[in-house]
Amino acid sequence: MAKYATQPDGPAQGETCDYCGSPALTWRKCKLICDDCKQINKSCADL
Ligand SMILES: [Zn+2]
Repeated sequence: MAKYATQPDGPAQGETCDYCGSPALTWRKCKLICDDCKQINKSCADL
């Protein structure tokens, strides 16, 4: 079991992309990735 906080993979609710403004963001391997521009908006370390 991981001791640090993790975010389960899947769609993020209530988030918008800092780069293109898209609301379609997905958590993947502890990174919040925009489905449209593929930029990483956030990671678990930022939570
Ligand atoms: Zn984006």
